[in-house]
Amino acid sequence: MTIGILGGGQLGYMLALAGYPLGLHFRFLDPSPEAPVGRIATRITAEFSDRGALKKFAQGLALVTYEFENVPVEAAEYLAERVPVLPPPAALEAAQDRLKEKQLFQKLGIATTEFAAVGDRNALDSAVQQIGLPAILKTCRMGYDGKGQWILRNAEDVSRAKNELPHEHSASHKRTKGDGLDQPAAFILERFVPFTRELSILAVRGRTGETAVYPLIENHHRGGILRLSLAPAPGLEPAIQKMAEDAARRVSESLHYVGVLAIEFFQHQGRLLANEMAPRVHNSGHWTIEGAITSQFENHLRAVTGQPLGATNGIGCSAMLNLIGEVPESSEVLTVRDAHLHLYGKTPRAGRKLGHVTLRAASPEQLAARLSELPSFFHRPDYCLDAALSRAASLRA
Ligand code: AMP
Repeated sequence: MTIGILGGGQLGYMLALAGYPLGLHFRFLDPSPEAPVGRIATRITAEFSDRGALKKFAQGLALVTYEFENVPVEAAEYLAERVPVLPPPAALEAAQDRLKEKQLFQKLGIATTEFAAVGDRNALDSAVQQIGLPAILKTCRMGYDGKGQWILRNAEDVSRAKNELPHEHSASHKRTKGDGLDQPAAFILERFVPFTRELSILAVRGRTGETAVYPLIENHHRGGILRLSLAPAPGLEPAIQKMAEDAARRVSESLHYVGVLAIEFFQHQGRLLANEMAPRVHNSGHWTIEGAITSQFENHLRAVTGQPLGATNGIGCSAMLNLIGEVPESSEVLTVRDAHLHLYGKTPRAGRKLGHVTLRAASPEQLAARLSELPSFFHRPDYCLDAALSRAASLRA
């Protein structure tokens, strides 16, 4: 069985690595000739909008899935006329626009950050009045890893931000009729949440609706990029896990979702506020490769191919550290017991995710000991090792 994957980055790379033992084959489509999957699978290098390439890509595939959420919805819909596309293109559509995403959360009764649509610079003042300061102005589309965001703390920031906004709401962004969710706007203003911590949940839903959920993960970012994940989230209260599971179930049921779905939350005053979702395997779930009974990658493939889902329980506790822009000496990482190094085969570049390290341990104390054995490369503020060490002490085994 050959599975087509749209996007050929590290998520696709790890999907293929998880699929080979299951006897699956893979074909990727990615616009970049540098996409790392080229090393391990057939790769078609073409734009997602290239109909000829999409047609060729789809030939003989059992199904298509994606590892990149900014694949144009039209490309997914075009493929869906030829071959099953899972998760359904509607999920892609909901996740590509921050406003639609938050409106979906709201419609499903999932608490979210207060927000307002901002079409053009004239709309910013009233949005600020409604939401208050501090706030964050974000592009609705194509923003990721903190890109396309401005923190507004005072009136000066607001007038500076206005220069980033178009003079008038462009015709293509005008309100359209639809299911109540489509109100395209170029920007969204969100209340700044002074959260206690950031958490994410990964759920997997099979073709017949069965759902399994991983333990909540605590995430630490620097400059909008994920640096460190701890799983299970330290001091995880069952009520918080339940809130996240309920949200994941509601979203996945409403979208007739199949595959792995990630939702990111802020924990604030004992509640969870949904920030965003990703209709794909997720960076905060990389620890599941060694740290859970079934990895997110294997479970995604089990789900889309209609196989029984694997258990999502963690094995002890794990810490995952992203390698961004540069990588350490492999031998210095591999000398640490139960440390697992993953390199994606990408050319090093500042801000680029080149690999990750997962440390696994039987107890929080053991995890703390293993984290402190990591080489000096990781003992820089960017790696959040201090946070990991102090939080590991409160991890429940
Ligand atoms: P996002 O692209 O929405 O995931 O935002 C990137 C990062 O910016 C998040 O992981 C948070 O650390 C921070 N952030 C985003 N939105 C908010 C918000 N409304 N309040 C506080 N911090 C935020």
